Amino acid sequence: MKFLCDQMLGTLAKWLRIYGLDTLYATDDLDDNKLIEIAKKENRILITRDIQLIYKSRRENIKSIKVTEKNIDEQLNQVLKKVKIDKEFFLSRCLLCNSLVSEINKNDIKNKVPNRIFKNNENFWYCKKCDKIYWQGSHFKNMIQKINSL
Ligand SMILES: [Zn+2]
Repeated sequence: MKFLCDQMLGTLAKWLRIYGLDTLYATDDLDDNKLIEIAKKENRILITRDIQLIYKSRRENIKSIKVTEKNIDEQLNQVLKKVKIDKEFFLSRCLLCNSLVSEINKNDIKNKVPNRIFKNNENFWYCKKCDKIYWQGSHFKNMIQKINSL
């Protein structure tokens, strides 16, 4: 399952990436027609708060999820009710660019993360595209909490 979040749902897009879901986040210069085109071409489920966009996507036979809540926890609940998530894929994607990250040897990143982080973590992941290193820090713990509360 792949997703496309509209411009209003940046935080939600980031969370879906944390769960390992392939999620594009629309930039401001994309209008509704362009969003529908991308969803169609890449077979993505459109996630939006815009009811007009929901109608348009239905006419084009594009699957969509309507988000009505403003609160991020509620938004996540709405989406995750309809989506199967697998813990195996948690933290498999870069939060910035949606690329798959790969595990990286701890010793290779010694000078690239703060000392405290280096000492307290054994596993690190790396996005080549963004040159960004991830570890199971606070957002990971929040995520586990969230999942348990769903
Ligand atoms: Zn990246």
